[in-house]
Amino acid sequence: MEQKRIGIFGGTFAPPHLGHVLAARAYLDAVKPERLYIVPTGIPPHKVAEGTPAARLEMCRAAFGNLPRTVISDYEIKKEDVSYTVLTLEHFAESGAALDLLCGSDMFLSLSRWRRSRDIFRLARIVGVSRGTENISLLEEKKAEYEAAFGADVLLLYAEPYPLSSTEIRRRIAEGSSLEGGLPASVIEIVEREHLYADGKNGYE
Ligand code: ATP
Repeated sequence: MEQKRIGIFGGTFAPPHLGHVLAARAYLDAVKPERLYIVPTGIPPHKVAEGTPAARLEMCRAAFGNLPRTVISDYEIKKEDVSYTVLTLEHFAESGAALDLLCGSDMFLSLSRWRRSRDIFRLARIVGVSRGTENISLLEEKKAEYEAAFGADVLLLYAEPYPLSSTEIRRRIAEGSSLEGGLPASVIEIVEREHLYADGKNGYE
């Protein structure tokens, strides 16, 4: 029997925006995995997560909840320590499924500097999704580099790149600009209800 395949898409998701949703959709369409797990980080290793875990989790449920075969996981949020991707992969590998690690191009390019990167390449196929802002040949070069240096399995997806970041969304909120075309309507509702990212309010417990 063929081994089941699951995708893991981690991030701070502060807030989750349409670039994230389209990346998830591109992966679901291209690979047709058994499941896609959206894994918001608890305490990320290299940046501050803007927004409480409760707020980011609720926004992820709103943003990704309608995608087929997609589950929002609170695995990293429930952990008290720093969230390292390699530990999350080890956790999901226990299911016996083949793993795909989804990452946008910025994350994809920095992967070899992540904690225990060799193990990351061993545990998962890496699915790099273009953010639409990077140099494509750089992604292809990195793919070749990871394959040669780590025996990595790498898939690059270029479907519908959507050049947007959570930083840009937080900036628009602070300025009072429209969020349409940036966030799914269900996420806009939560942001407005909780006044998230406005007046220094970064979430709720
Ligand atoms: P911030 O601006 O706060 O740094 P971000 O927009 O980069 O946030 P993250 O939550 O850090 O979002 O990203 C989670 C994952 O989603 C990362 O792998 C990132 O590369 C990817 N990603 C973010 N934005 C996009 C996009 N527009 N298209 C494709 N992938 C994206």
